[in-house]
Amino acid sequence: MTKASKYRAVLLFGYPGCGKGTQGAVLAGLPNLLHLAMGDIFRALDKQSDIGREFLSYSTKGFLVPDELTVRVWKQHVDGLTVSGTYNSDYHVLLLDGIPRTSIQVELLSELIDVLCVIHLGIDDQQVLVERLKGRALKSDRPDDADESVIRKRIEVYEAETMPVLGALDQQLITNINADQPPLAVLRDIADALVSVVPSRI
Ligand code: ADP
Repeated sequence: MTKASKYRAVLLFGYPGCGKGTQGAVLAGLPNLLHLAMGDIFRALDKQSDIGREFLSYSTKGFLVPDELTVRVWKQHVDGLTVSGTYNSDYHVLLLDGIPRTSIQVELLSELIDVLCVIHLGIDDQQVLVERLKGRALKSDRPDDADESVIRKRIEVYEAETMPVLGALDQQLITNINADQPPLAVLRDIADALVSVVPSRI
C-alpha cells in the first residue's frame, strides 16, 4: 500500500488498567475517529469457534495471542467495517487500542497503517493498575481480570513485549501523558495531543 492509501491511525499505549479503554470509549463518540480495541475484537469472537477458543487459551493465562493471528483477525474486522460502511478510510482516523503490542505486529501493520500520533498513558505505581483491574473484573465479563497472578503476568508481558515497541517507534510521534490523574484530566491531555492530527472535517 502507498502512504496515501494506508489507513490513518492514532495508537494508544499503556499498561493494562491504565485507562485506555475508558478514554477510548469517550473518544469513540467523536466524529472522524473510529476506536478499535483489540481485546474487544477478540472478546466478540464466537467462543465456540476455533479462533475464539484459541483466543481464550491465551488470554485466560495472561499471554498474548500469536502475532499473525492477531493481525489477521484485526484486518478481517476492519474489512468487515469497511464493507458495512461503518469505516470510511477517507473520513475516519483509526484510534487503535491494544494493537500493535509487539514489534512483529508493528512490522505486519506497517503495510496497512500510517501512524499519525502515539498516545502513551503512563502510570508509575503498578498497585494502582492491579486494583483498577480487580475492580473491573467485578463489573464485566473478564476472566483475565479476576486473578491477581494473571494480572501480574499481563503487566510483565506489557513490559517485556510492548514497552520495547514504544522505544522503537518514531519518538517525535509520541506524547507521554500521566494516566494517574482524574479521567477528565487525562482526556484533556489526550485532546490536546490529538487536536492537531485529527481532521476537523465532518
Ligand atoms: P488488557 O489491555 O487489559 O490486557 P485487552 O482487552 O486489551 O486487555 O486484551 C485482552 C487479551 O486479549 C490480552 O491479554 C491478550 O491475550 C489478547 N490481546 C489483545 N490485544 C492483543 C494483541 N495486540 N496481540 C496479542 N494478543 C492480544
